[in-house]
Amino acid sequence: MGETEDERTSQAGQLFENFVQATTCKGTLQAFSILCRQLELNLSDHRDFYSSLKAAVTYWKAKGLWGKLDKRASHKEYNKGKACVDTKCLIIGGGPCGFRTAIELALLGAKVVVIEKRDTFSRNNVLHLWPYTIHDLRNLGAKKFYGKFCAGSIDHISIRQLQLMLLKIALIVGVEVHVSVEFIKLLEPPEGQGTDGPGWRAEVRPADHPISGYDFDVIIGADGRRSTLDGFKRKEFRGKLAIAITANFVNRNTTAEAKVEEISGVAFIFNQKFFLELREETGIDLENIVYYKDNTHYFVMTAKKQSLLDKGVIINDYIETERLLASDNVNQEALLSYAREAADFATNYQLPSLDYAINHYSQPDVAMFDFTCMYASENAALVREKNGRQMLVALVGDSLLEPFWPMGTGCARGFLAAFDTAWMIKGWAQGKEPLDLLSERESIYRLLPQTTAENISKNFEQYTIDPATRYPNLNSTCVRPHQVRHLYINGEQS
Ligand code: FAD
Repeated sequence: MGETEDERTSQAGQLFENFVQATTCKGTLQAFSILCRQLELNLSDHRDFYSSLKAAVTYWKAKGLWGKLDKRASHKEYNKGKACVDTKCLIIGGGPCGFRTAIELALLGAKVVVIEKRDTFSRNNVLHLWPYTIHDLRNLGAKKFYGKFCAGSIDHISIRQLQLMLLKIALIVGVEVHVSVEFIKLLEPPEGQGTDGPGWRAEVRPADHPISGYDFDVIIGADGRRSTLDGFKRKEFRGKLAIAITANFVNRNTTAEAKVEEISGVAFIFNQKFFLELREETGIDLENIVYYKDNTHYFVMTAKKQSLLDKGVIINDYIETERLLASDNVNQEALLSYAREAADFATNYQLPSLDYAINHYSQPDVAMFDFTCMYASENAALVREKNGRQMLVALVGDSLLEPFWPMGTGCARGFLAAFDTAWMIKGWAQGKEPLDLLSERESIYRLLPQTTAENISKNFEQYTIDPATRYPNLNSTCVRPHQVRHLYINGEQS
């Protein structure tokens, strides 16, 4: 006897629910593949994937999500998912900004492939979200994937939770995601084969992965601060020596823990009395500290070198920061105590037990690193041409502009750049002149480092990929086409 309509609806609902509730990267991909197999959804049909999934999953809980995604997809900029139908995009990196970009490109109708070199999402560290990012994520259905998302006045999320929810949304809108695939380099179209031969491709590890046989028109570096894409000069902002420490402690969600107040970085940076008392009482000397209560109790602080030497965290003093912070010059036990003592003082000794959460390497989750230098790419995009084939190359997220962690600007500015990049790719698909496109992109990129939660448009409901909806004082022609000629790289002439 065949299944009834009700049984089918309920089975599809359960499979979808398993996918929505999956808590790991691998678990999500597995639940998704089972869902697609059982419901006979064709993954290679990226254009109709979302509507086929929606038609197959009709149980009540999914309807709220479909409503939200339909509303987003109805933005006129996407032209009913037909704005970029012939565009094939490769995104390097499955961090928050890679996935956020992927979702926009899929809504524009492009074929989108994300490759991520890892197969786990393990970063406990917590990202501060600006009000617009919270609004944006809510509109993509964040609460359906993570019920606790920004409840009450919470304005942060752990990096791994954010990656997980964006991965799920990306899969739903038809993005092809491959984990354990590392981008190595861009491969030019071979000589003498004209436009019928292979186009621009990517060399990846493992070398025999099927995606090495795909042609792309657009490639986006979203692989974090150490971007692997060639051709972009980096600007360095060198400040005075800055040593940051991040620490994550287990959150048991007890009433006592719930009562402890968070410390938001922006306000705290100016609280001199606190830092003097901390130094007097403990010998710990900090420039700032942030505390967010999330899946873990997360602290990020900037520590002064002398206090790290005095407390035995750094063993020998060296001028070169790399040597100073090399693992053989750091006493790990002393570092654990330093961060715990700072966290304890900062929360007025109210957190009942400061047990370290365990990181990806099965070690207590504490890290110390140098962020004396922050990097930004000089340019946001370039075009390569070889054997008559063009390739648009762009950067987003930390690859484009590195954030200052205690202020947590990474995700907020990263998402703005994701939208701006999607806007450029729409122009690319419409056949806009490359120099016009690149000069517009550079004009918009000039605004990015100056953006704050206060100076961007407050009308979040109007936000689309069109930069005019987000930047109040937009001048998209401040960089002229002749100023970006160097960003059109013709391989024939080199
Ligand atoms: P990322 O989140 O860095 O993601 C890049 C992704 O690309 C990674 O998943 C990486 O595995 C993948 N990748 C890299 N190279 C390749 C390759 N060749 N091929 C395929 N995939 C590749 N910000 C804060 O505000 N507070 C913090 O405490 C904080 N802690 C951080 C801790 C770590 C370990 C890191 C790496 C970043 C941290 N950040 C923090 C920065 C913050 O995570 C980013 O601003 C935010 O995640 C947006 O970044 P993104 O998506 O551009 O890049």
